[in-house]
Amino acid sequence: MSDEELLFLRKEDYQGKLDRLIERYAGTGRPKLLLHACCAPCSSYCLEYLLPYFDITLYYYNPNITEKAEYEHRVSEVKRLTQELGKDCGYYAGVAEGEYEPARFLEAVRGYEDQPEGGLRCVKCFRLRLSKTAEYAAKNGYGLFSTTLTISPLKNAAVLNELGREQAELHGTEFMPSDFKKKNGYKRSIELSRKYGLYRQDYCGCAFSKAERERQRKEL
Ligand code: SF4
Repeated sequence: MSDEELLFLRKEDYQGKLDRLIERYAGTGRPKLLLHACCAPCSSYCLEYLLPYFDITLYYYNPNITEKAEYEHRVSEVKRLTQELGKDCGYYAGVAEGEYEPARFLEAVRGYEDQPEGGLRCVKCFRLRLSKTAEYAAKNGYGLFSTTLTISPLKNAAVLNELGREQAELHGTEFMPSDFKKKNGYKRSIELSRKYGLYRQDYCGCAFSKAERERQRKEL
């Protein structure tokens, strides 16, 4: 399937698929899950929801983030969240950091810089991040991987789930389907962000999304 076709994929019941996967693993202990994390606010609900079922390591691989300082601020918030949430729920997620390699992101999205958020630039960006996550999962003995990205109302869950499936097949691991915005997941992430005083950025991550947000602000 081409990237253009991906954008027109029909949505499936990813929440139902996740429910069935959780049922499948119920009673087998808490299996290892590598969960790609874009930022602390998006991770908050996903962790609260999944930690009772899985032994989670958050994988912070986000070469899309435009500045090193912003990148480091986001990862430090992810680490703080695991500690704060752990105290409350009794389960502590680990954090593994990938490399910060912005040149690789720019190479992946070359020619698509002017696409609006949600377009082909994002497909390339998702694929890069999910491919690295799947690779890390396969190399480090995680039978399952997923991403917090599906919690965002601005991100296409069908595209993310298809790319996750594609990368799982390529790397020989299993992708956990999700649409974390269901069950009021996005709303809960805002509540948890307030509770823990998490840094909530107002743009997705790349320089292009930051410029888009600034343009929108000026137009208001
Ligand atoms: S808007 Fe977000 S998902 Fe899209 S390319 Fe930029 S950082 Fe990646």
